[in-house]
Amino acid sequence: MKIFKHFKDLENELANQKGLGKTIGFVPTMGALHNGHISLIQSAKQKTDFTVSSIFVNPTQFNNKEDLLNYPRNVERDLLLVEHNGGDVVFLPSVNEIYPNGLQNVKHFDLGELEFILEGKFRPGHFQGVCMVVERLLSRILPDYLFLGQKDFQQCMVISKLVKDMGIETKINICPTLRENSGLAMSSRNERLSMEERGKAAQIFRSLQFIKRHIKEQTFENLKRNAITQIEQASLRVEYLELANLKSLEITNKFNAEDEFALLIAAYLGEVRLIDNLLI
Ligand code: AMP
Repeated sequence: MKIFKHFKDLENELANQKGLGKTIGFVPTMGALHNGHISLIQSAKQKTDFTVSSIFVNPTQFNNKEDLLNYPRNVERDLLLVEHNGGDVVFLPSVNEIYPNGLQNVKHFDLGELEFILEGKFRPGHFQGVCMVVERLLSRILPDYLFLGQKDFQQCMVISKLVKDMGIETKINICPTLRENSGLAMSSRNERLSMEERGKAAQIFRSLQFIKRHIKEQTFENLKRNAITQIEQASLRVEYLELANLKSLEITNKFNAEDEFALLIAAYLGEVRLIDNLLI
């Protein structure tokens, strides 16, 4: 496995691989890798000839300084994990490599309503930061396929729009959310939770399933109230819990069996912010 810290070295390697007719799969991450990330690498290996993963804790997508400072980092372990799972290249850029002209946003990405709802509402500027880093990575790597996790559902929609607006050929492959046995969605942030807290956090997914089970018989408002009570009884604080149209992500209270919907949630356990979603 090769490790590159500079775009020009990565680009040389990719030019060689593309010259050999190999297709490139790209898995961007912020490190502290878990099986969810590994499942993306495995999908990339299945679907493409040459798998590039990146590890970069992107400062511009953190709207909260403490969150950035506390974000788990374990690069040595991450590199072993990627190598063990057959990744071909890890790109490990510095902040300066990605942002040679500083961190300020010089360009506004037009994300429509996606920028202001759900994650966008509670993490102002977050998706602009995501687009800043992903645009820089994609424009240099130009992968055939980009592998993203459904866990970050709104992010998948934002990046799909970005790829479309960039006019590049990259196809997006959205991979299912990997969960602990308890149902808790795997997340790097789970590393900041004790075993007992992880048990409590599993209530998030149980409550999403509860809503899905009853959505045909009860109003969403009613189910939402019950779900929030359940989650708060497990000592979490719900930031949002919404039903949204799957295609547009427009928030609604009205479920119908003809359309597709997503339940989306963000909740805090202590200082740790967790998100999850479930498709209906
Ligand atoms: P992150 O390192 O959290 O920025 O995530 C990097 C990629 O891994 C994103 O596309 C995430 O959606 C994806 N991912 C994170 N958690 C999971 C999970 N539990 N299952 C599947 N993919 C995930």
